[in-house]
Amino acid sequence: MAEEYGHYISGEWVDSSGDEFFDVVNPANGEVLARFPKGTREDVQRALEASKESFRKWKSTPPAKRGEILLRAGQILRERKDELGKLLARENGKILSEARGEVQEAIDFFEYIAGEGRRLLGETVATELPDKFAMTIRVATGVAGLITPWNFPIAIPSWKIGAALVSGCTAVFKPASGTPILGAKLVSVLDEAGLPPGVLNMVTGSGSVVGDEIINSPVVRVISFTGGVDTGRTVYSCGATRLANVGLELGGKNPIILMDDADQDLAVEGVLFAAFGTAGQRCTACSRLIVHKKIYDEFLDDLVEETEDLKVGDPLDPSVDVGPVKGKEQEEKILGYIDIGKQEGARLLCGGEKLNGGGYELGTFIQPTIFEGKPNMRIAKEEIFGPVLTVLEAKNYQEAVEIANDVEYGLSSSIYTQNVNLAFRAIQDIEAGITYINAPTIGAEVQLPFGGVKSTGTGAREAGTTAIEEFTEIKSVYIDYSGRLQKAQIER
Ligand code: NAP
Repeated sequence: MAEEYGHYISGEWVDSSGDEFFDVVNPANGEVLARFPKGTREDVQRALEASKESFRKWKSTPPAKRGEILLRAGQILRERKDELGKLLARENGKILSEARGEVQEAIDFFEYIAGEGRRLLGETVATELPDKFAMTIRVATGVAGLITPWNFPIAIPSWKIGAALVSGCTAVFKPASGTPILGAKLVSVLDEAGLPPGVLNMVTGSGSVVGDEIINSPVVRVISFTGGVDTGRTVYSCGATRLANVGLELGGKNPIILMDDADQDLAVEGVLFAAFGTAGQRCTACSRLIVHKKIYDEFLDDLVEETEDLKVGDPLDPSVDVGPVKGKEQEEKILGYIDIGKQEGARLLCGGEKLNGGGYELGTFIQPTIFEGKPNMRIAKEEIFGPVLTVLEAKNYQEAVEIANDVEYGLSSSIYTQNVNLAFRAIQDIEAGITYINAPTIGAEVQLPFGGVKSTGTGAREAGTTAIEEFTEIKSVYIDYSGRLQKAQIER
């Protein structure tokens, strides 16, 4: 029996003002897992009102106390890791080990960011006048609108919620309609951890109604959005109209470069994980493999052989390597790109089909697919967000980097080489927010900043010490203890 949820407003689970619901479906077998209300604009307004009312009190709660609640939430998540991991695998389709890994990421982040409650560092700065003191402090920006995608249903919400709350912001959170269950579980955990009513509110429903109402509300001073580039553009322009702070984390077309001296066994393993882990549905998934011509044929033979051995199936089965893609819409989009690849003249090396029969027809499964392509093809330029890898040949390092950089995105990147000089050059040369050396494009850790360049984002960095920058403003403070009027610049 599918569980029925409401919105979470002012510390309570409440009914929507409307009477429509949507189903959340397991992409592996079509099972309806839960029903959520299709939120209305009125629901969002209630949530915004609650966030606004609780802001002053939450902002003046000592940051260490705010951090304690987040730490407690992390502990509760740790106790429920298995249960939540299984639920995540059913809701999202990622295989159990990855789903548990995602819950671990939420735990790690809450534990990490809780400590920020004892830092929120500012600076003391020298002044030009006697008997005067100057410093900067961080001040919570205000009510935050947090909008998240379906591919990381607990990790991305925890990054945004954790950073917003420790900073002293209150928030309205809208999870993706494809995967709101883990978002709702996270909200329940925070409630249980002792979060005061109104500090965090959740409204479910469509981007075009709930999302739109959040991004256009004058109450919302900071919007933190993760999703696709097209939606990101809309969010950015709405925020810009009223000069709200907007943090965008958008798509990627992440390259792995393989030099002729690469450890090829290590690279095969890394490419398989980065390209087909989470069925390629990670913003950091590798979707372009750029291989030095000297090892091209040999490496490709190995890669194709290993790819054909990957087991696709039920994410709860521990022997499965690749789960389903998230639903019909995703399936159609990915199969559409496979058709585009064929029409563009790319050579299909393996996969390329939807899986049917033997139970596969109940879900949305696509074979791990490899194309041999050219840098100017659409499959080599556009984000596919599925288990589709395009391999490109490069004659040398210079050409490999040019190909790597010749896309609109710049999120993650990687190079496999034993040459330390080349590795350090690549760190400088590749246009991306993240570069891995001898490791795949996925696997970010919470204590480092996360984000990208070019169309991947607006420069905001989630996680790491930078996480709080999105949700705080810097205030400069001057304290004059001279007892007389001192005039900066003029007295000199
Ligand atoms: P999406 O379609 O852009 O949706 C993201 C969120 O925005 C969802 O909650 C969606 O609601 C909401 N939304 C849709 N239209 C909106 C509007 N007009 N106003 C306000 N909100 C709106 O993206 P997705 O398909 O969920 O996620 C996949 C994308 O996210 C990929 O491009 C991926 O690369 C990117 N991503 C980036 C990162 C990163 O950190 N850079 C991380 C993960 C994913 P509904 O669900 O109700 O439509």
